[in-house]
Amino acid sequence: MKGQSGKKTQQREDDMSRFVPQNIGFDFDRVLVNYPPFVPAWLIDWLYRRHDKKTLTYRIPHSKTEQTLRKISHFHLFRPKISTNTNFIYELHQNHKHHNLYLISSRYKFLEKITHKLLRRYHLADVFSSVNLNTKNEQPHLFKEKAIKRLKINLYIDDDLDLLKHLHKTCPKTKFFWYNPTHKMASVPSGIIPVTQVAEIQRYLP
Ligand SMILES: [Mg+2]
Repeated sequence: MKGQSGKKTQQREDDMSRFVPQNIGFDFDRVLVNYPPFVPAWLIDWLYRRHDKKTLTYRIPHSKTEQTLRKISHFHLFRPKISTNTNFIYELHQNHKHHNLYLISSRYKFLEKITHKLLRRYHLADVFSSVNLNTKNEQPHLFKEKAIKRLKINLYIDDDLDLLKHLHKTCPKTKFFWYNPTHKMASVPSGIIPVTQVAEIQRYLP
């Protein structure tokens, strides 16, 4: 009899462990929504960076003209959703409610309104436990480092490998995924997992 109840307890523990809630963080641009289709992605990535600094530094647009140009490039028609990935998020939200999903995007303050509008348009507004935008216009990698630590993120996915390399060093408790749908060649530190679809992170969920 004792053996039977022991088995049952073990079974219950196994069942429970399948529901260990995970805090999962998602980047937004080029993970859930794409870049404008008429501009090469490498060019956008290049424009977003500063090239006069030795360490990772992003260009934060301060002039009205540059902010307006960026706003235009963030208009919804230029940011189509990546359905394979958003469908996975809807599914995760629907069927795995014990996990907490967080959007962690380094979009700056002047893109805040347009981003919330886009989230509503793509039915993503209620999917996340919280939407975390870089409204203090900090350096993106530093903003994300803080957000990941504050929200105790277990898994985080982003398309920016240089940014992930920084996070991998500074947030040792988090598992990082590099979203690389085009199989870009790059040297990836062990510990950062390359994936071609967001759904691949499911293998790492309890
Ligand atoms: Mg991105």
